[in-house]
Amino acid sequence: MRHCNSVFSAQDIWYLLDSEECNKRKLFIANCPICNKEMVLYSYSNPKGEFFEKYYYSNGARKIKERLKKDVVSTMLGFKTKYKMPSGFVYGLNKEIKRNGKIIAQMQYACDFWGNKILVKKIENG
Ligand SMILES: [Zn+2]
Repeated sequence: MRHCNSVFSAQDIWYLLDSEECNKRKLFIANCPICNKEMVLYSYSNPKGEFFEKYYYSNGARKIKERLKKDVVSTMLGFKTKYKMPSGFVYGLNKEIKRNGKIIAQMQYACDFWGNKILVKKIENG
């Protein structure tokens, strides 16, 4: 993030639910290390894959946090929300569903090291 001619990393990142117009929504949160201004960087891409980002400061930053907090799926600081989505380092897990010794479906999950799991894809055989 950028302010006062310096570049610094976010103190926290909120990962947000996709909405109809916006995917991969993230909110980067920081206080400028030089002037201590409260600031957020809201980034998202639209369905065409175009990427947007916008800074908000002070009151504007607090307002957008208030508006977006209901959409938080997980945060960099690792606090878990009601959605129990995997966060941080996510790895894939395949699970075979068998019936009478025959594989009838493959379930692909995304997992994290806190035990959160979400079904990504289900492949049915036959
Ligand atoms: Zn500053």
